[in-house]
Amino acid sequence: MKNRRWILKERPEGKVSAAHFEWAEEPVSPPPAGQVLVRHLYLSLDPAARIWMAGPSYMPPVEIGEVMRGIGIGVVEQSASPRLPEGDLVTGLLGWQEYATLPEDELTPIQRHPRLPLTAYLGVLGHIGLTAYFGLLEVGRPQPGETLVVSAAAGAVGSLVGQIGKIVGCHVVGIAGSDEKCRWLTGELGLDAAINYRTQEVPEALGEAAPNGIDVDFENVGGEILDAVLGRLNQNARIVLCGLISQYNATQPVPGPYNFGALLTRRARLQGFIVTDYLPRAGEALPQLAQWMEQGKLKFRIDLARGLENAPETLNKLFEGANRGKLVLQVGEEGPSPHFSGEPT
Ligand code: NDP
Repeated sequence: MKNRRWILKERPEGKVSAAHFEWAEEPVSPPPAGQVLVRHLYLSLDPAARIWMAGPSYMPPVEIGEVMRGIGIGVVEQSASPRLPEGDLVTGLLGWQEYATLPEDELTPIQRHPRLPLTAYLGVLGHIGLTAYFGLLEVGRPQPGETLVVSAAAGAVGSLVGQIGKIVGCHVVGIAGSDEKCRWLTGELGLDAAINYRTQEVPEALGEAAPNGIDVDFENVGGEILDAVLGRLNQNARIVLCGLISQYNATQPVPGPYNFGALLTRRARLQGFIVTDYLPRAGEALPQLAQWMEQGKLKFRIDLARGLENAPETLNKLFEGANRGKLVLQVGEEGPSPHFSGEPT
């Protein structure tokens, strides 16, 4: 039995391609004591992957020669751990590979929700939901009646932020890259306004969509979009700096933001946010996110691609705006393993 995996070969300059990786096949061995062999089912493709392959950041980079890092969901195929029996569903850093051998304490068991797809645990009930929940509520601290702007608003994080903003009672403006995405935001998700940054002048459009100014900005993009928001901040505004996706593929130093001085004059607060700081508090957020979903207040969509061999190209959908919702790559089938006689229970 073989494990097929993507090994980082060189650090990309600009856009990622398969040429930056080696497609390797290695035999799968039984797990040592305290570890389990996980068969990978779903791989989360995140903008952070581009950061991890670039160099040191908020966590150590993926080293050259290592399997590419990625969060995944899998099924325990062989167990040498009393805590994680065969057949259990687990999530953790499974990597861009079909099988992962990991210590039991690096995996979290999944108690599957009866009415949700497994992929939800890579989205609203995983790191994406926690990012939206803690980033908005703890860092942004939105109040009823305030105006919230969110960029990459139709994406995995952004779409949840906009909806939580509505739950809290904000006037919510989403910024996204297509008319279809904008219609989804104001239609199905119930945002107050949406701006297509590809076809509209964002500074002017913000003037119309946020006539009372901006109190909270959930920033996923940076660059010109952040600058336009800075130009319309209210006194004591809060900016949740969650992501700068417009810069992750940059090959030159990125200028700006030009309206930086607005932070001073508007007495605004800009705070960086990394979801891993909040993982110990996941138990506070996940039941609330699940309840909002049950109540129909929180909707999400999954963009499911297939085949581990397509991982590098599929990742680029995030930087082209080609994903519709949380981007997930199906790596294996959910059913019993084709390789092992002991079937999962
Ligand atoms: P999304 O599902 O939002 O996909 C990324 C989206 O970003 C694309 O669909 C595209 O939407 C938009 N985008 C890409 N390039 C540009 C650009 N140059 N200008 C404007 N928009 C662009 O991904 P996620 O929800 O997973 O991530 C969203 C952001 O949140 C990222 O910045 C990510 O790094 C960050 N993040 C941060 C975390 C943290 O702990 N700090 C944790 C998780 C995510 P469109 O069609 O609208 O252009």
